[in-house]
Amino acid sequence: MKIRVLGSAAGGGFPQWNCNCRNCAGVRDGSVAATPRTQSSIAASGDGQSWVLFNASPDLLAQIRSFAALQPGRALRDTAIVDVVLVDAQLDHTLGLLMLREGKRLRIWCSERVRAELTSSHPIFELLEHYCGVDWQRLPLEPGSSFVIPSMDSVRCQALAVPGNAPPFSPRRDAPEPGDNIALLLTETRTGRSLFYAPGLGAIPFSTNCTPVMTPVGRAAAAVSSIPSGTLAKDAA
Ligand SMILES: [Zn+2]
Repeated sequence: MKIRVLGSAAGGGFPQWNCNCRNCAGVRDGSVAATPRTQSSIAASGDGQSWVLFNASPDLLAQIRSFAALQPGRALRDTAIVDVVLVDAQLDHTLGLLMLREGKRLRIWCSERVRAELTSSHPIFELLEHYCGVDWQRLPLEPGSSFVIPSMDSVRCQALAVPGNAPPFSPRRDAPEPGDNIALLLTETRTGRSLFYAPGLGAIPFSTNCTPVMTPVGRAAAAVSSIPSGTLAKDAA
């Protein structure tokens, strides 16, 4: 399994466009030795050819420009992004879907809760029907359930409901339910090596029934992506 961390910042990115804190100002003028970060997203692939995008951030076009493996290389109109998985309906994980509207129908994996948001309160799925269209794939959340994404069939995926608020536009704001936020455990079937990706984690669960084994790349991805949402923005504010 190949993993690319496309972005590791909280919503707004780093530096945030309207933030003049020490960190944001410092990274702009060079007085702080920090690395600018785009908003949270990773890409994963079983074969290095077909890629699954985990979250579509507002920075998606810049992230595609920064990673040649995702760029068109086989035909006049082409992409290596075959599937998209969403961990929640937050703007910083979904606005990038609009940037993919010129392509083929999007196959998008998300929970029923997230699908409901994306067809009502934040109806980006409805918008996309006027462009490329969306084929929704239901993420199973039942305990012990797993699924395989056909474009990455060497990897077993598990979706786990995790703590976290519903988006500000949601009718369930401050009253989230299982499925509003998920984490993903990706396990390479050949080696058993795993990656745990939880970019929207509102709190570390007291107990968990999974003990992911991180690959070196996976460990880096998990480390930068498991920071509870808003941490970087808060640190930088
Ligand atoms: Zn700042």
